[in-house]
Amino acid sequence: MSGASETSTRLCEHEGCELPGKFRAPKAPDVLDEYKWFCKDHVREYNLKWNFFQGQTEAELNAQATKDKVWERETKDFRDPEARAWARLGIEDPHQVLGNNATRNPGKQGVGTRRLPPTERRAIEILDARDNWSKADVRKSYKALIKVLHPDMNGGDRSQEDQLQEVVWAWDQIKESRNFK
Ligand SMILES: [Zn+2]
Repeated sequence: MSGASETSTRLCEHEGCELPGKFRAPKAPDVLDEYKWFCKDHVREYNLKWNFFQGQTEAELNAQATKDKVWERETKDFRDPEARAWARLGIEDPHQVLGNNATRNPGKQGVGTRRLPPTERRAIEILDARDNWSKADVRKSYKALIKVLHPDMNGGDRSQEDQLQEVVWAWDQIKESRNFK
């Protein structure tokens, strides 16, 4: 949320500080285009102090979320694996839409409920699948991943070939497994 720097002569806005104010921080969660300028130490201090989620009620947070999606995503969604899991299902704000149910990560349901050999457990994780899926279901997930990862199918992007290899390996494990019907 900070760290952008600018070469100017402004001074750090921290009271009594005489250092150049090279680092900026948004003035408020809902004012992202106005900044305060600080030296390196004071921008860090400002950011640490300003934990704006702290002390807010859920209603206020929800109001904030709709008010400023950008800020919301930066502070929560991108860093929170649970939010990402919901996002994969097209649910942007699970806490707002689902209330308390939101704490049940959709990516974790059905995982770890069966005894599986470690290779198959790992394979299921890689394929983003669930223990209780049929082989056909796992195959669908495998196909979907291949579409994204394989250079022949994603427009020539080879940056994800390591992951592609893992996915192919994982499907081999499940394909041959007697634990999946
Ligand atoms: Zn300073």
